[in-house]
Amino acid sequence: MRALAPSGDIEKAAGVLRAGGLVGLPTETVYGLGANAEDPAAVARVFQVKGRPPSHPLIVHIGGADQLGDWAADVPETARLLAERFWPGPLTLVLRRGDRVPLAATGGLDTVALRVPAHPVALDLLAEFGGGVAAPSANRFGSVSPTTADDVRTELGDAVDFVLDGGPCQVGVESTIVDATGENPTVLRPGGVTREDLEEALGRPLDVPTTSKVRVPGQHPSHYAPNARVVLVEPEKVVAEAERAQELGHRVGVFLPPALAGTPVQAHAVVPVPESTADYARVLFGYLRELDRQGCDLIVASLPAEAELGLAIANRLQRAAGPR
Ligand code: AMP
Ligand code: MG
Repeated sequence: MRALAPSGDIEKAAGVLRAGGLVGLPTETVYGLGANAEDPAAVARVFQVKGRPPSHPLIVHIGGADQLGDWAADVPETARLLAERFWPGPLTLVLRRGDRVPLAATGGLDTVALRVPAHPVALDLLAEFGGGVAAPSANRFGSVSPTTADDVRTELGDAVDFVLDGGPCQVGVESTIVDATGENPTVLRPGGVTREDLEEALGRPLDVPTTSKVRVPGQHPSHYAPNARVVLVEPEKVVAEAERAQELGHRVGVFLPPALAGTPVQAHAVVPVPESTADYARVLFGYLRELDRQGCDLIVASLPAEAELGLAIANRLQRAAGPR
């Protein structure tokens, strides 16, 4: 059994939302920083607390696929099919904005990003609150997304009014964002629902921006980034690169690829990359935070193959390694 929020906490969190406050909330992907989606002042505080540019839209979390029509101006057949297949779950649908959604939540866009999270605590909160919860990841803009309630408290402290603890996140990377405004959906961000699953549901191949063809990042602005600088190399070069940097005086953290499990490495800290991409996604952000905590100034890692959750992991690692 997963640890669930103590009774009374859901009511308290809903009260905070109604009063215009901010709630740290667990989802299956990462922890969110939630505000009443219909309260522009509360939504503005989310941007302020995160240090996020107001032009970056938020995801509005809702309680069920049956509420889609309350928040979107138009729900194409394909969007409905995806919602029914993947909600609750780590899929965000971008649709035409309904009147109920203030422009503050969409960064001024005429589209809105909607999702039903697959986490019992988040669903309880949404049911109790009754409205939509606009929530980006509960971290400062550009830094590593939180996957535990403690991460949220460490990251945001008193800037968040209340943190609901729903245990560690089970997916560990953010949702897949699909532009579903037309009948030909496109993936805007790879995430917790895999391309393979989407293609199976749609019965056709999907256009997905690939990231890891370019093994050396450059064009990815930094995001999901720990304090330590992240360097990506081919898996077979991870040990040599780590030891070289350690020799040069860096405090090196190593993401040791599964093929090299057990290999001794002369480095400050080593974390083992799990074989399965689902397991890897679950620990990815925790590993980045842990290596920061251990005082590493450089992290050496490699990109996983792009199959299954490897696509989302590669995307996050490339952005973590992007120019600061
Ligand atoms: P975060 O909550 O930190 O995972 O960020 C939310 C993501 O959703 C960002 O990458 C946004 O750009 C994306 N997003 C939200 N609303 C829209 C929208 N209307 N159109 C395109 N992307 C969106
Ligand atoms: Mg984020």
